[in-house]
Amino acid sequence: MDITNFQLSNFLDSVLTPEKIKDFCPNGLQVEGKTSINKIVTGVTASQALIDQAVDVGADAIIVHHGYFWKGESPCLTGMKKKRISTLLKHDINLYAYHLPLDIHPELGNNAQLAKRLGIIDLLPLEEGNSQSVVMKGRFPHPITPEELNQKIHLSLNKLPLHEPADKNQINTIAWCTGGGQGYIEQAANQNIDAFITGEVSEQTIHIAREMNIHFYACGHHATERYGAKALGEHIQNHLGIESIFIDVHNPA
Ligand SMILES: [Zn+2]
Repeated sequence: MDITNFQLSNFLDSVLTPEKIKDFCPNGLQVEGKTSINKIVTGVTASQALIDQAVDVGADAIIVHHGYFWKGESPCLTGMKKKRISTLLKHDINLYAYHLPLDIHPELGNNAQLAKRLGIIDLLPLEEGNSQSVVMKGRFPHPITPEELNQKIHLSLNKLPLHEPADKNQINTIAWCTGGGQGYIEQAANQNIDAFITGEVSEQTIHIAREMNIHFYACGHHATERYGAKALGEHIQNHLGIESIFIDVHNPA
């Protein structure tokens, strides 16, 4: 079975509702390719390595979390960007990108998928009442120790996090934001949450964690944002019957 690239666009837009979300890049079809779609590759970032692997497996479309045309970036198609886009055009591959819509989707989103992997329950937006929140809060069914959380992250993401410990022996409440969400740690600490998880760390994040007594775990931007694209690919395969392959291009950051 195959569908057209515009049918795939409509399907993705209906699932991820990008029109409701203010973002830093265009969400949806970013580079148009062939009309007929039989095979899809999903991945975190539309890097050259992902595109090359998509070419190798004969993909008609690539769907990523990090696409192109970010606010503030040069609009010129030169250098690395020229090479990436010319590979897509040469092989007539469609590129779809969904940034914040793929972070916040209540089932398929990076935040929801990370919570599922870590066994977090009672999910709520950190900023209560904000259904578009990119930061979430929840709890574990039973309080766990900071070391147990460290191990849980290590096992489920296959990556040892950077843990800045706080003066709390038990973790019950937790807030998280996949990717580069370290700027939200203060907001979490203000709500007296026991631990904050995100992908990246900045120098000041450590001081905030220490001075506001909140456990902090930096688990990798890439590692925390793998699962949305993967879940979206499975969703497409289940609903549209289109073969969908998740390709994990290793990235330690
Ligand atoms: Zn990201």
